[in-house]
Amino acid sequence: MKIVINGIHANLRFSSAHMIPLHESCGGIHGHSYIVDLVIEGERCGKYGFVVDFKKAKDIVRSICSKLDHKVLIPCKSDVVKFTDKGEKSIEFTVGQKEYKLPIEDCCLLPLKSTSAEDLAEYFTEEIFKYLEETYNKISRVQICVNEGIGQGAYFDKSIKT
Ligand SMILES: [Zn+2]
Repeated sequence: MKIVINGIHANLRFSSAHMIPLHESCGGIHGHSYIVDLVIEGERCGKYGFVVDFKKAKDIVRSICSKLDHKVLIPCKSDVVKFTDKGEKSIEFTVGQKEYKLPIEDCCLLPLKSTSAEDLAEYFTEEIFKYLEETYNKISRVQICVNEGIGQGAYFDKSIKT
């Protein structure tokens, strides 16, 4: 059985700035009001016969959203973002000819090659899976859609083979 959580109605959102390094139009820092949709598939279990408690699922997604909210998302594993200094107060990096210096408190450093909707969807899925694996042993699949506003999003699907 599946549970489905619609991010726009369940208020699973975050607003962040990012850039797609070297991309013609998305290479400049710009922002999105992201919305996260979630599907979790598994066997019903426990006292109430839930797949996962809706509240718990929303809490997990919200905790990830709040880490990213109102930050500049920086992909630490990018091949084109070259870090020149990571101080206590600021972070410096270059992308091609561009030089950036940002306050560290305004940034969220992510272990990703890119902060595209595709990579963020994968990141959310892996983070949610980690948590669910520890808590629920009957989960077989997590699907996440990270929407860059309304109308476009990237969908990532991860299954556990049993
Ligand atoms: Zn963008």
